[in-house]
Amino acid sequence: MQFIPRKTLPAALLLCFAAAHTIAADAGPNVTGHQAEIDQIVKEISPQRIEGYVRKLVSFGTRHTMSDTVSDTRGIGAARRWIKSELERCGAAAGGRLQVSYDSHVHPVMARLSQPTEIVNVVATLPGTQAESVDRMYVVSGHYDSRVTEVMNATSDAPGANDDASGTAAVIEMACVMARHKFDATLVFMTVAAEEQGLLGAANWAELARQKNWNIAGMLNNDIIGSSRADDDHVDNTQVRLFAEGIPAVKEMSDANRALVATGGENDSITRQLARHIKEVGERYVDKFSVNVIYRRDRYLRGGDHSPFLDRGYAAVRFTEPNEDFSHQHQDLREEGGKKIGDLPEYDDFNYIAQVARVNAASLSSLALAPAAPQQVKVRTAKLDNNTELVWQANKEPDLAGYRIVWRDTTAPQWQGALYVGNTTQYIIPRSKDNFLFGVQAVDKDGNASVATYPLPQR
Ligand SMILES: [Zn+2]
Repeated sequence: MQFIPRKTLPAALLLCFAAAHTIAADAGPNVTGHQAEIDQIVKEISPQRIEGYVRKLVSFGTRHTMSDTVSDTRGIGAARRWIKSELERCGAAAGGRLQVSYDSHVHPVMARLSQPTEIVNVVATLPGTQAESVDRMYVVSGHYDSRVTEVMNATSDAPGANDDASGTAAVIEMACVMARHKFDATLVFMTVAAEEQGLLGAANWAELARQKNWNIAGMLNNDIIGSSRADDDHVDNTQVRLFAEGIPAVKEMSDANRALVATGGENDSITRQLARHIKEVGERYVDKFSVNVIYRRDRYLRGGDHSPFLDRGYAAVRFTEPNEDFSHQHQDLREEGGKKIGDLPEYDDFNYIAQVARVNAASLSSLALAPAAPQQVKVRTAKLDNNTELVWQANKEPDLAGYRIVWRDTTAPQWQGALYVGNTTQYIIPRSKDNFLFGVQAVDKDGNASVATYPLPQR
């Protein structure tokens, strides 16, 4: 058990209590610097290739879920066969570790399906290379189906260049770039169908994951990440919104969520921890670009493929451009008062899509290189005192270096202070548990840090 009396705290540590985003000049791996490999991945993301993918997806005319599946040039069948072949081509060129397959089911008639319809996700899995981490998965998705004004219209041109060829192209580009690299944990690059018919493709896969009890440690949905131009024509290519739910709005609160609320941890759900981590890593690796975390599941009147994952207890977030122009979403192609209506590629900003893909890729790389978030993290509350005694279960990864305790004011969104405490499973911080929110991260020898785990009280 280590204990630092307050009067012997190093000056650098004292400083970090005051200044946001500084860390203690303590021994341990450099967790706030740049990993050369992640810099390389970010650099390799190509706006030109992303543009090529978007234009190819648009060329299928419509990708409506009930559209033609026989033609080689038009409809959702041709689109998914092209996505699969593109991922297979990239995977083969990258050394053959990317496993590409269809995840398919026939969905019965429902409000948004007039006939039983085969719903097909294209799933590319890059298995982790560390035995202790291969079961831990991070999922990144976009939906490749599209629609026009009438949700059942399966024949009119529905280019879906932004919604959601942008997210689909970003996922293909990430898969192609990242398949050339090795990660401890497993990455799943998924392009899903039937988002517009009610999140059916994502829900099918999320349910499979839940039934098989897969360890999905984070899910990143990219939907409408294509445009930097708002409906009033102003351009903002410096930020992306990241929607992150707190406590889910369910009738019966789980014991885990009740424990969060009871200790003021309602902003420390696993989804908020994931969002906090993505903001920190994404902004570190992508210059002049910010991740605007929004404390909501999604926008009003809209839903997305992260929702089925949230509903099954997984941490899941949604990336969306900062200012949507709704005349370029879900619209029949037409002109009104000299203005073109419809989701056309001319309204996409391919450099912007690349920036969002870079934030995704940096976050996913960092997470999949890092150890798992510590388990069974507890704060001991047996006696009244002004310290914080944290205990946790030891990680099992062979490249683990140790642990990092992070903290922030109860009203602060991001971590403000951090202390590397070495390879131990308990630590007493001379800061009051009553006044701060704490988290524990696992850190590997290269300095890759896990998402923080919120400590639940232990008497
Ligand atoms: Zn969409």
